[in-house]
Amino acid sequence: MTDTYKGYRDPALATLKNFGVRVWSDVEVESTRGSFIGIILPRSETADASHVVLKLRNGYNVGLRHDTITAMREAGYKEAHYKIPEKQFPFDPGKPKVKLLGTGGTIASRLDYRTGAVIPAFSPGELYGSVPELADVCNLETEKLYGVFSENMAPEQWIGTAKAIGREIEKGVDGIVIGHGTDTMAHTAAILSFMVQDSPVPIVMVGSQRSSDRPSSDAAMNLIHAAFTAGYSDIAEVMICMFGPTSDQYGLLHRGTRVRKMHSSYRSTFRTISDIPIAMVDRKKVTPLRQDYKRRRKDRNVKIDTAFEEKVSIVYYYPNMSPDIIDALVDNGYRGIVIAGTGLGHVNKPLYPALARAHKKGVAMCMAVQTIWGFAQMYVYETGREIMELGVFPASNMLTEVAYVKLGWTLGHTRDLAEVERIMLTPINGEITEREPHNGYLVLQGGIPEVEAFIKSYRK
Ligand code: ASP
Repeated sequence: MTDTYKGYRDPALATLKNFGVRVWSDVEVESTRGSFIGIILPRSETADASHVVLKLRNGYNVGLRHDTITAMREAGYKEAHYKIPEKQFPFDPGKPKVKLLGTGGTIASRLDYRTGAVIPAFSPGELYGSVPELADVCNLETEKLYGVFSENMAPEQWIGTAKAIGREIEKGVDGIVIGHGTDTMAHTAAILSFMVQDSPVPIVMVGSQRSSDRPSSDAAMNLIHAAFTAGYSDIAEVMICMFGPTSDQYGLLHRGTRVRKMHSSYRSTFRTISDIPIAMVDRKKVTPLRQDYKRRRKDRNVKIDTAFEEKVSIVYYYPNMSPDIIDALVDNGYRGIVIAGTGLGHVNKPLYPALARAHKKGVAMCMAVQTIWGFAQMYVYETGREIMELGVFPASNMLTEVAYVKLGWTLGHTRDLAEVERIMLTPINGEITEREPHNGYLVLQGGIPEVEAFIKSYRK
């Protein structure tokens, strides 16, 4: 081994030398914080110099400050190879043909111990090597379209993904899985719902909240559910397939235009908003929760429509917002603005002249709501009526992010403001619903008697 102390610098380096241990040593450590057993991992070159990092037996990593370590004993040496073995995916003529298009994100990641970062490293063979159960589900072909964390997904990648979906459908696949980072998965699901219309097969987006080197990773289960849905379900829509409850009982299939990431770290982070999910999925079946979905077909008549105007923005209103925010967008050539307003769809009076100016310059403006659930209803208060008179139309119950991508897509087709409003308010794939079902609003609060009773009945 060329670098015995990979990445370590003093004072942590001095501690390793002092106790005669090195990177990949299997060690027993005594410290002022207790005893630990684990393997010394290489240290990120950019990380601080005072910690020694151990991979514990349970798979988690712990950092120990050099001056808390009182003893270290090498019990063995285990150099890890983090390359996942590449395996040829087997072919079974009796199973459906599924194409996995990779865009990046945690699901396509492994931990890079050189830098300490989670890096995208998608390769088809690696995927089968790490989740061999996929071969029991379908014949999987894979293609890496991109290798980015999802904050870097943008119109160029959305368009590329939509075109790749079109190509695969024409080639005759039975279903498509799209591996994607979870952070902006809902944005991509929404834009694909507009760019890919009337798909004859399921288009299933999937990701993971925890990378596959962690024991609690959701990567394998989500992938198996997504592949099963793509191969066997009769739901021919753009969906997100992720953990349903907090444990690994089943996944949920959410409509691509009604879904949101609602927790920064829970695996059960995706929730259908103002409605209920389309279906539940486990390893053996897809159980619909509703019937109003588009069915699988044999034809290949998909419509790919990737027109997109990039000069669109979201303005999230906050008290005391000043009109120069709106003016700046107009002066920088923005063609569309989605305002996320308070309550039923409001902003303060000082913004009014800027909104009027934007409207006069032909900027399309619509109102979504910060409350996340519910409809923009601008006839209720005087404020709402006044804002509508300035040229802002209510975006019904479209989620803010969905209104944003739909406005970009709409402005890719027309700049006529009446036509923009017409297209925006004509639902294409469930982005606007007639009403919110009573069980479509779900924010559980512990301590409330009804919720506690529900949890008890659930646990039985
Ligand atoms: N930051 C990651 C991404 O969205 C998180 C994930 O994949 O879950 O790309």
